[in-house]
Amino acid sequence: MDGFDAERYSRQTRFGPLGVEGQARLAAGRVAVVGCGALGSVAALALARAGVGFLRIIDRDVPEPSNLPRQVLFDEADVATGIPKAVAATGHLCRINSALRVEPAVVDLVAGNAESLLADVDVIVDGSDNFEARFLVNEVACRRGIPWVYGGAIGAEGRVMTIVPGRTACLRCLVPEPPPPGSLPTCDTAGIIGSAALVVGAVEAAEVIKLLAAGPASTGGRMLVCDLWENAWRSVDMTPLAAAGCPTCRAGDTPWLEGRSGGQPTALCGRDAVQVPAAAGTAVDLEALAARLAGVAKVTANSWMVRAELVDGIRISVFADGRAIVSGTREESRARAIVSRYVGA
Ligand SMILES: [Zn+2]
Repeated sequence: MDGFDAERYSRQTRFGPLGVEGQARLAAGRVAVVGCGALGSVAALALARAGVGFLRIIDRDVPEPSNLPRQVLFDEADVATGIPKAVAATGHLCRINSALRVEPAVVDLVAGNAESLLADVDVIVDGSDNFEARFLVNEVACRRGIPWVYGGAIGAEGRVMTIVPGRTACLRCLVPEPPPPGSLPTCDTAGIIGSAALVVGAVEAAEVIKLLAAGPASTGGRMLVCDLWENAWRSVDMTPLAAAGCPTCRAGDTPWLEGRSGGQPTALCGRDAVQVPAAAGTAVDLEALAARLAGVAKVTANSWMVRAELVDGIRISVFADGRAIVSGTREESRARAIVSRYVGA
């Protein structure tokens, strides 16, 4: 036995470079998907269908109507029930492939949890919307020797690069002087068309499949840059940027992992919402909070979060780890005030 259903994957195993042995390696493969928005949901979907054995889906957010044009794992029912993206994605992926093991993690990837979430997988896929998460991924990957696939999409443009620590340039080689941890704004997008996210997520999934089935020597080091509006596709060799003196991939410097976890409220990428972090180790009694808020707002609660519709179009979602996402504002100070007023400091 090779640990997979031979008939189900017959069209893949017939593809020579993958074969039965490659398919068996996919079935034994463990992958972490960081961020389950547009790129992460496309990559996770493709990997689940391809027969990868284990996925950890890490995402901090809940689905919104404006996600539906490109976040292929969610539907209108998920938006209505308001369950976290990681949990909704897990349900859909398990229905697509019952042999797949999926572990949802409804958290913000921060310095304090990055290593425990990422160190026990074979490959990490970047589906995040911010550079703070990417630098954390890069540092765990370099420290542990785990290959990871960077992806980005904006407008009609996409970028993908596979980073193999010790062999290719790492993210720090490409961005030698990143701003200090915590100082980067999250992206506020210039818009995006769904096809760009589909392309990037699909290329990221293909990179993961190569890494798992054929090993890290099979890829890495080139960046694909494509513009779907201009019909321009090119692949750039990033090897000349691999820096012999890179503090992270050559000398083990990990400023982002050593940075403070949690920190400041941050406006979330491409939406009218602010995330207000909680101190590390916070645990909220969601039932008690739901009961308390029911007196002043319309409340929905599940095992992962409590959501309350407040006045003036403001909605607050509080997660079990104490994080809150305030929708209906982009003002960080206002979001913090709303959280202290309704949830407590
Ligand atoms: Zn480097």
